[in-house]
Amino acid sequence: MQQIMQSNIYQNKPITSGVILSYDELLDRAFAQLPKLSIENVDFKIPEADSMIQGSKTIIRNISQIADVARRSREDIAKYLTKELAAPISLDGSTLNISARIQANQLNEKIKRYFDTYIICKECHKPDTKIAETQRGYVVIVCEACGAIYTVKNYQ
Ligand SMILES: [Zn+2]
Repeated sequence: MQQIMQSNIYQNKPITSGVILSYDELLDRAFAQLPKLSIENVDFKIPEADSMIQGSKTIIRNISQIADVARRSREDIAKYLTKELAAPISLDGSTLNISARIQANQLNEKIKRYFDTYIICKECHKPDTKIAETQRGYVVIVCEACGAIYTVKNYQ
């Protein structure tokens, strides 16, 4: 694991949910982006899952839309939900399939928490963030709008 992470640092290749950067690199990038004002996201709304229970499974039909709004991969959201719901999840084309019956309100609560924790900057409340992993395995949120950097709980 350490080997893979090391090589990723130098090649700067994205891994699943982000790129692995040293803390210094994160700072450099965050400050380099500071003067660039981001678009105001006054209309930003946390998307709701378009879900449906089918037998013993739950299907989210708009996972691509949720991923687009979050600017994260569908796989990233799938990992988060797998951990939060403690149920196997698979991605199939444009749908996400959960091997459990999850009510819509419970699902939307999890998605809201995902956005609150991993997407919306806790400093400036804008959704212009990236997720990255440091050399030591800490997961950090880097805000492109205000330059805030803070660690969050890893869900991978
Ligand atoms: Zn911010």
